[in-house]
Amino acid sequence: MAKKISIAIDGPAGAGKSTIARRLAKELGYYYVDTGAIYRTVAYFFDLWGVAPKDIDGITRYIDELTIGIEYDEDGVQHMIMNGMDVTDDIRTPDISQKASLVSAHAVVRDMLLDMQRDVAKEHDVIMDGRDIGTVVLPKATVKIFLTASPEVRARRRCDELLAKGQKAKYEQVLADIQKRDYQDTHREVAPLKMCRDSVKVDTSDMDIEQVIAHIKDIIEKKVSK
Ligand code: C5P
Repeated sequence: MAKKISIAIDGPAGAGKSTIARRLAKELGYYYVDTGAIYRTVAYFFDLWGVAPKDIDGITRYIDELTIGIEYDEDGVQHMIMNGMDVTDDIRTPDISQKASLVSAHAVVRDMLLDMQRDVAKEHDVIMDGRDIGTVVLPKATVKIFLTASPEVRARRRCDELLAKGQKAKYEQVLADIQKRDYQDTHREVAPLKMCRDSVKVDTSDMDIEQVIAHIKDIIEKKVSK
């Protein structure tokens, strides 16, 4: 079997990772894996069970009750299945964003999800986005991108996204949430968000989606055609 191609896209919240990765995956014919959605599903599960995201004893006790499935519909949209239930839309709230950031700091949670993520990359060419894809999940990824933008630009984009979905969003609150998550995600002990030496940094603050896609596609094509 030919070696699979894997593209790791890491970066902070709101940098545009999922929008970019989804589009690129479609254009290149790769699988798209949104790993943030997996952590969100864990956070949602414990939220339903009334276990606080910092409660490591409760998490350790009940984590075996959780089964996570990833399915793709005919449009290639990733669906998260929690104990047989499709929770794809339920996990997209600011509350679950914060809880996912806290729950993902526990080694017991990260260990449980590692093989699930690696298995997809063993079977398919993938574009995987998250916080530790290039550093931990796929350290030998074909291409590693570190996608970022200023906190203000990321907050503005996230705000527009929430408003477009009919959810309430205040810029100052969204910015504060993003800064809090940035801090948590970069300061945790296990698999913190950081740029690896072999990743290419792409700052999207002054770029639109089409420019970012063209730029990253160029990076991928140069590497893959070698
Ligand atoms: O990317 P998204 O905003 O959906 O991720 C939600 C949270 O899940 C992040 O703030 C981060 O704490 C966690 N996460 C992670 N590792 C990943 C992907 C997401 O810790 N690979």
